[in-house]
Amino acid sequence: MISNLGQKSKQRKSLWQKKFSQPIKTLKDLIDFFGYELINHSPFQFLITEEYQKIFQEVHQKFRFQVTQYYLSLANIKNPRCPILLQILPDKKEIQDPFFKDPDPLREEENSPIYGLIHRYPDRVLWYVSHHCAVYCRFCFRKRKVSHRNSNFFSKTYNDIIHYIRSNPYIKEVILSGGDPLSLPDKTLEKTISDLKSIPHLFSIRIHTRMITTFPYRITKELCKIFAKHYPVTVITHFNHPVELTDIVYQKIQMLKFSGVIVLNQTVLLKNINDSLEIIEKLNLKLLRFGIIPYYLHLSDEVAGTYHFRTSLQKGLEIIRQLQGRNPGISIPRFMVDLPNGGGKVPLQNSYLIQYENKNKQYSFLNYEMNPKRIFYIKEKEDESL
Ligand SMILES: *Cc1c(COP(=O)(O)O)cnc(C)c1O
Ligand code: SF4
Repeated sequence: MISNLGQKSKQRKSLWQKKFSQPIKTLKDLIDFFGYELINHSPFQFLITEEYQKIFQEVHQKFRFQVTQYYLSLANIKNPRCPILLQILPDKKEIQDPFFKDPDPLREEENSPIYGLIHRYPDRVLWYVSHHCAVYCRFCFRKRKVSHRNSNFFSKTYNDIIHYIRSNPYIKEVILSGGDPLSLPDKTLEKTISDLKSIPHLFSIRIHTRMITTFPYRITKELCKIFAKHYPVTVITHFNHPVELTDIVYQKIQMLKFSGVIVLNQTVLLKNINDSLEIIEKLNLKLLRFGIIPYYLHLSDEVAGTYHFRTSLQKGLEIIRQLQGRNPGISIPRFMVDLPNGGGKVPLQNSYLIQYENKNKQYSFLNYEMNPKRIFYIKEKEDESL
């Protein structure tokens, strides 16, 4: 049995927990952070209107608002398209979505044998361990779930979930997700990772977190020791824009890597925030310089309240096409769509293969330039037995 999981510990709070305990949670705090005068002379003047106050309250009732002082300090209030502010400011569109009505188009709840466990693919499970995040992103595809307050479902279902994973030998990987798994205390994380590591049929333990983006102080020596002890652990970060890659992030990534952590990144393609070749290219190159491998670029999901963040699929394909051949291969993420109705993730690719000619048994290709005047050929192997 485990005790005290997910509950408030009586012990003294660690430094990261202290810093974490002063996030900005109200519109007033947000306005105070920048100062009334500055906001009044900025493109975000609407923040101090009565109308916005109403919108904020209304949206807030449905989807929680919270942002760390650290993350807000990256914002530029003079830039009407500030990528930080656009990711965190509550917007009327979240409760008046004209197109997306389904809070759970990926059918996560239907693929959940135990509360918190999503078992969609035969070989991998995703374990939703916490409702909490340091910052609540407005585009979140788990909006329906994150920010539920005061629930200790994690400790209640913990033993059942470990038992489920242990008794299904075809499960190769466990992904800790949420909410943010790094919002759990070290002791809880250590116990979870250690219990998972004791299951012989698991090949991989992954942690999906946005905390390194929104609150990098969470990466401490103590946490890194836990990761080092249970080598290898994979951490998937979530950076959407190059301004999120700061000096402190660089130091924390270095600490993780020196502790033997495999670090990959996923990005969500977001309208008006990062949906351009220039930004995605810069982001990926900077990730590489930080020692992070870009893993996935996601088309945003059809989740109710997020239509205004959605880009066209074509836009994503075009960005990937432009990157291909003009950037280091290890800096190019796979462009993914998570199919609605629970279809799961599939990679979206530009096709370089034009056709196969049966007569002379040859394939014809475009190269990365995709210039129809330059065609390349590969002959099919004639005899497979040789
Ligand atoms: C995204 C996801 C995974 C992991 O998919 P990979 O392609 O292996 O990164 C696993 N389970 C669920 C439910 C997911 O949504
Ligand atoms: S950190 Fe992740 S889970 Fe939390 S609100 Fe942002 S996108 Fe959603």
